[in-house]
Amino acid sequence: MVENKQMMQNDYIQLEDKFGAHNYHPIPVVLERGEGVFVYDTDGKQYFDFLSAYSAVNQGHSHPRIINALIQQAKKFTLSSRAFYNNQLGIYEEFITRYFKYDKVLPMNTGVEAVETAVKLCRKWAYEKKGIPENKAKIVVLEGNFHGRTITAISASNDPSSYKGFGPLLPGIIRIPYNDIESFKNIVSDPEIAGFLIEPIQGEAGVVVPSDQYLQECFSLCKRNNILFIADEIQTGIARTGKMLACDYVNVRPDILILGKALSGGVLPVSAVLADDEIMLCIRPGEHGSTFGGNPLACAVATEALRVVVDEDLCQKALESGLYFRKMMTDLSQRYPIIELVRGKGLLNAIVLRKDNNLAWDLCMKFAENGVLAKPTHGHIIRLAPPLVINKEQLEIVAGLIEKSLKQVS
Ligand code: PLP
Repeated sequence: MVENKQMMQNDYIQLEDKFGAHNYHPIPVVLERGEGVFVYDTDGKQYFDFLSAYSAVNQGHSHPRIINALIQQAKKFTLSSRAFYNNQLGIYEEFITRYFKYDKVLPMNTGVEAVETAVKLCRKWAYEKKGIPENKAKIVVLEGNFHGRTITAISASNDPSSYKGFGPLLPGIIRIPYNDIESFKNIVSDPEIAGFLIEPIQGEAGVVVPSDQYLQECFSLCKRNNILFIADEIQTGIARTGKMLACDYVNVRPDILILGKALSGGVLPVSAVLADDEIMLCIRPGEHGSTFGGNPLACAVATEALRVVVDEDLCQKALESGLYFRKMMTDLSQRYPIIELVRGKGLLNAIVLRKDNNLAWDLCMKFAENGVLAKPTHGHIIRLAPPLVINKEQLEIVAGLIEKSLKQVS
């Protein structure tokens, strides 16, 4: 094998191609370092990161405070398993439950594991508290959703590339159109509905923002019909949209809140399910768990990652930067007809290209050439989601680079 130092980007790509499963189609750049809003490839080329690892790096790459927390804790103790207590978990649990104002937290690792956990918790609550007959509980999900890649999550999906060829899928799921209150009203009186699982903004679908009224009405329909409102804020949460949670825009407090990604600032897989006692205590010892969930390293990292969000006022930054950036993108859309529309909230934004051109991939390749990394979602949509620590001057530079790329592909 070639020595690491002499390897070219193509060598790394070929290694992944030869020895890794082909379950991704990456933009062909090989990254080796990140700092703040920047990532660097193996040739030392600098890029603005406008994906932020799918919104996991809200606090910026390798944030010194989070890395310090990681190092300090890693030197002492990384994993106890939940067979024993450890001296970090309780402190973290108190911290995060006060932070998000819930009675209890159930710590997991990846986002989709937290989604699984939320669905299990909801079903358990349905049988124990709501009185739905055993094995009859239904969960309502929305068209266009993305909740991850496990069988539960793909059973919720209406995207064939997610579910096709992986059946049999999970029963007990009802899917209705997103941002369409009538379709929820039509089914809401079904007494077997236990939960309503929603992304307050659909990230993977292409940053689809529903009306404020929709979220509020869904929430009140849930309340009136004793259905748990479960918010998947894995991508929208932790300041990404300009508030701590996207649900905060409409004063909706989910019955079950699911977090992941930026909960660790992109340093470790750390996810969480938050709920009050009435719901959370339906799961008892031995009924759910994870070897790594709630490990001391994750606890120390997540605590510091959440502190950074407050100390650096990242909600306000995302809000203001988002307004400024969307305005620049909207101006561009008026000059470049290939852009059909610009949408988003805070620093979770997308440019939607005219479908007939199918230029999203080519444009992302030009972005990369010009020093901006982003990835198409669904062929004609490009999500633009930089770390929230990006400043105004950097946003202006990126707007210039995006314009340059648009000129090149137009
Ligand atoms: N839910 C949402 C809304 C997501 O955006 C994602 C990932 O993109 C997930 C769940 C799955 O998270 P993970 O990839 O960490 O399992």
